[in-house]
Formats: sequence, structure tokens, C-alpha cells
Amino acid sequence: MKYDYLIVGAGLYGAVCAHELTKRGKRCLVVEKRNHIGGNIYTKEIEGINVHMYGAHIFHTSDKKIWEYINQFAEFNHYINAPVARYHDELYNLPFNMNTFTKLWPDVFTPEDAKRRIEKEREMGFCAHPSNLKEQAISLVGETIYKKLIEGYTEKQWGKKCEELPAFIIKRLPVRFTFDNNYFNDRYQGIPIGGYTQIIAKMLEGSDVLTEYDYFEHRDELKTLAEHTIYTGPIDRFYDFAFGALEYRSVRFETEILDMESYQGNAVVNYTAAEVPYTRIIEHKHFEFGTQPKTVISREYSSKWTLEDEPYYPLNDAKNTMLYDKYKAKADAEPNVTFGGRLGAYKYYDMHVVIAEALKTVAGLTNED
Ligand code: FAD
Ligand code: UDP
Repeated sequence: MKYDYLIVGAGLYGAVCAHELTKRGKRCLVVEKRNHIGGNIYTKEIEGINVHMYGAHIFHTSDKKIWEYINQFAEFNHYINAPVARYHDELYNLPFNMNTFTKLWPDVFTPEDAKRRIEKEREMGFCAHPSNLKEQAISLVGETIYKKLIEGYTEKQWGKKCEELPAFIIKRLPVRFTFDNNYFNDRYQGIPIGGYTQIIAKMLEGSDVLTEYDYFEHRDELKTLAEHTIYTGPIDRFYDFAFGALEYRSVRFETEILDMESYQGNAVVNYTAAEVPYTRIIEHKHFEFGTQPKTVISREYSSKWTLEDEPYYPLNDAKNTMLYDKYKAKADAEPNVTFGGRLGAYKYYDMHVVIAEALKTVAGLTNED
């Protein structure tokens, strides 16, 4: 056969696999249905600014090996994600920290003051075993923060009441009693200078790549070209939705060029009031400390997903998890196909996890693990 591996999808997972396999002397063909490489980390230059076309992407990890791995492909800057939340005419720092607490409550000056204040609010709606997001949020930060900074944003993002959402979603956000606006707790963080697409392009060097090439339109002919397939598209689509479609939450981006130097003075501003239809506005230049005369912003509208939309966030609830398990059992029995990436595994994977998973896959395929 002409190739050792057919890789479906030129996103981060497919690209890491392609890079590692070509490094080991394997011949790879990568097919991508979009008209560009990069999957959801694709960045495009507009007005000299690297625009994150499928949503803001901040690289963060505590794993030194993964940090060193990604740094082979680009130099990273010192960007630290520190979003601001806007609730009506009030602005607050995120994640929830001493800057947030002192702005919310004028009588709070010290960590002890903040803890006492939150404890008092917590007692009002105390719940020993939070069973949903509302109860979990109130037990973490109290009623005022829940009402101003969590309820509206969360219900817009997920299209469901906080009482109907699992508690774990909100546990992702740090709560700190220090003056620290860093959104992540990870040791390493940054944005690749010059955008993400260059990283994928470097990873794909040495592989043959076809864009605007849908695997399902060419399945029979592709089968004759490679011994083994690494499939990073939706797992249910691979089996023609035999057990039904897995559900996602989608996002619509409204991107605009503005004739001004800075629109909001920060890369990320979350709009936490229920009345504002979008969840957040991204101002892309601030990821790279840009000084261009113009600016590019994207409003993010969280939306219901249909089969025609881009799948963004897997809905890992009980119903979809059961459905995924059925597909997974079929996939595990597939002799010459490996499923991976966020669509193949139906998991909300951050980039550092995708890299770790792809490295594991290649080690397994080449008998190195
Ligand atoms: P993808 O990037 O989706 O790549 C899969 C590719 O397969 C796509 O290009 C698709 O077009 C292609 N494909 C699918 N079907 C076919 C087919 N039939 N034929 C050919 N090609 C096909 N992670 C972070 O670490 N930090 C962040 O700040 C962050 N922000 C995010 C914000 C948003 C809005 C979202 C949705 C995700 C975010 N992530 C973030 C996660 C990050 O996007 C993923 O970890 C990463 O992009 C997953 O890579 P992947 O290769 O698995 O999937
Ligand atoms: N969240 C919130 N208010 C905010 C930001 C986040 O209530 O201003 C909640 C919301 O429920 C969200 C969760 O925290 O789903 C996790 O936020 P994160 O920023 O990690 O979400 P992502 O967009 O990365 O999934």
C-alpha cells in the first residue's frame, strides 16, 4: 500500500500523530474536510492580527514534557489569561479572587473578611452535598457571586437552568483568597507568537495532506491506500449514527473589524447578565500584545446544536455517555482503525490533553509503550 497510515482530520490530534509517525519513518496521508488545516485551533491573520477563528485558545499545562513538546513548533509569549466579567454596568476580575471580592463587598479588605462574607452567604443556602451546579456554586462562593457572575453566563452557555446542570462544570474555575487574576492554576501558559496554524503546518511536514477532502466521500478508495486509519472525526458519524446521534453544544462567532486601537482593553470579557445575548467578546490582538491601528473582535453566541452545525462542546450527560459507550465498544473491536481527539473520543479535551493522548496512541501503534 502507498501509505502506512491514513489520518482523518488535520486538527491537533491528527497533526501530532502525523508528526510522530513520519519521524519514525512511516508514510502518512492526512485528509481534512475543511479548506484549511488546524481544526479548531486554526488562526488566520486579519489586519495583522492572528484571529482565533473557532474560539479563543490559550495553551496551558502543568506537564513540563508537554510544554517542551509544543515549544518545538513555535515560540510562546508570556500571555496570562485574566478575563474580566461584565454584569450590567459593573466590571469584576475573574476567576473569583480577592480582586473580585473587594470590588463586590466594600467592607472586605482581607482574605479572612472575604471568607467570613462568603461563609455567611453560604449558610443562607447551605447544602452539604451539592447535587447540581446552582447548589455547588453557592456552596463555593455564595449567593451574590452566583447571581451576578454565574447564573446568567452558565444558563446562556449551556441553554439549561443551573439546577439541571451537573455540579462538576463549575469546579473547573479556581476560587482564590489571594489577589491573583490568573484564570488557570497551571505552571505553564502562553500563546504561540504568530498563531497556532504554523504549529500544525510544521507538524504536518513530511506527510501528504489533502484539504476539502471528506473521508466519507472517498471511503472506499482511501481504504486501498493505507494499512491503518487514525480517525479524529465524530465517532457516531463513522458508524452512520447506528445508535443515534451524540449531542453537542455549538457556538456561533460574529467577527468584526473595528477602526480603533482597542475595544475592551483585554482579550476576554465575559458578559454574565442573562439579558445580553452573547456569552463573551474576544479581542484577539491582546493575546499577542498587538499594537495594530485596527482591532478584531468576536462575539460568541452559545447555541443549540443540530447535525448541520459544528460540534463544539460534547454534552457528557448520562444519556450521551451511555450512547458513547455503545459506539466505543464497536470502535474497540475495529481492527485497523484508531479513534482519537475530542470528536473521536467524545470528550472535552484541552490542547495539552490532546497532545498527551496522541503521543500515547503513537506509542501504542508503534509498540513503544
Ligand atoms: P479538531 O480540532 O476538531 O480536529 C478534528 C478535525 O477533523 C477537524 O479539522 C475536522 O474538520 C476534521 N474532520 C472531521 N470529520 C472529517 C471527515 N469526515 N473527513 C475529513 N476531516 C474530518 N483548549 C485549550 O487547551 N485551551 C483553550 O483555551 C481552549 N479553548 C477552546 C475554545 C472552544 C470554543 C473550543 C470548542 C475548544 C477549546 N479548546 C481549548 C479545546 C481545543 O479546541 C481542542 O483540544 C483541540 O482543538 C482538539 O483537537 P482535535 O484534533 O481533537 O479536534
Ligand atoms: N462560568 C461562569 N461565569 C463566567 C465564566 C465561567 O459562571 O464568567 C462557569 C460556566 O458555568 C462555565 C464554567 O464556569 O461553563 C467553566 O468555565 P470555563 O471558562 O472553564 O468554560 P469553557 O468555555 O472553557 O468551557
